Amino acid sequence: MTTNIILLGPPGAGKGTQARKLEEGRGLMQLSTGDMLRAARTSGTEMGQRVAEVMDRGELVTDEIVIGLIREKLAEGGNGFIFDGFPRTLAQADALGALLDETGMTLDSVIEMRVDDEALVRRITGRFTCGNCGEVYHDDTKPTAKPGICDVCGSDDLKRRADDNEDSLKTRLLEYYKKTSPLIGYYYAKDKLAPVDGLAEIDEVARQISAVLDGK
Ligand code: ADP
Ligand code: ADP
Ligand code: ZN
Repeated sequence: MTTNIILLGPPGAGKGTQARKLEEGRGLMQLSTGDMLRAARTSGTEMGQRVAEVMDRGELVTDEIVIGLIREKLAEGGNGFIFDGFPRTLAQADALGALLDETGMTLDSVIEMRVDDEALVRRITGRFTCGNCGEVYHDDTKPTAKPGICDVCGSDDLKRRADDNEDSLKTRLLEYYKKTSPLIGYYYAKDKLAPVDGLAEIDEVARQISAVLDGK
């Protein structure tokens, strides 16, 4: 039995943080279109250059590009997938449904991570990540044990994202409300939606997600 879930929520809701915990705990594979796009932009390809500007402004990259990235990854198979930051539009949601059908997979749950907008500014402006292993940290809520050193892998390559500033966050939030939030109703109507309290502590959010997955 494979498990395929979507983590749905605005920028800073905690999707990446919970995806990593689920990878560790359940052997699922995290598919983050944001991470894939950031890898593409550093690869120096033409596509990478095109997406870099769009991402820095906080706008969404075209459906065509992200659907293409997901299609490639689904072909790799595995124990199941955690879709993190995808789908972000109704067109992407329809495309994911078709791709899962084609490969004989099903979608189990869409975890809606509920947070409020004010918390997001603090989440986003305090976020930093390990460039080596991808662990996600926060200046106040999840600092490293030793300043400047990743707890998980010991690397000192800790970085902040170019788009993690208040200006870009405003655009990202608008994009979320205009284009992504309709997915809440979309998956509710498909009987897939499971809300969790994204404002709770990281381990408590993880417990709520586990309860959803084990309740199925
Ligand atoms: P966050 O973790 O803050 O939600 P992501 O890392 O998921 O941000 O995404 C960063 C940026 O990458 C987005 O602002 C957008 O420009 C682009 N992006 C990521 N996923 C998608 C997607 N599914 N569709 C369109 N653009 C995307
Ligand atoms: P997303 O992938 O949805 O954009 P992240 O997982 O990157 O969100 O989390 C955004 C920031 O908030 C990070 O700095 C992370 O350490 C922090 N964070 C994540 N979940 C929580 C939580 N439940 N409580 C407090 N801080 C959190
Ligand atoms: Zn690390």
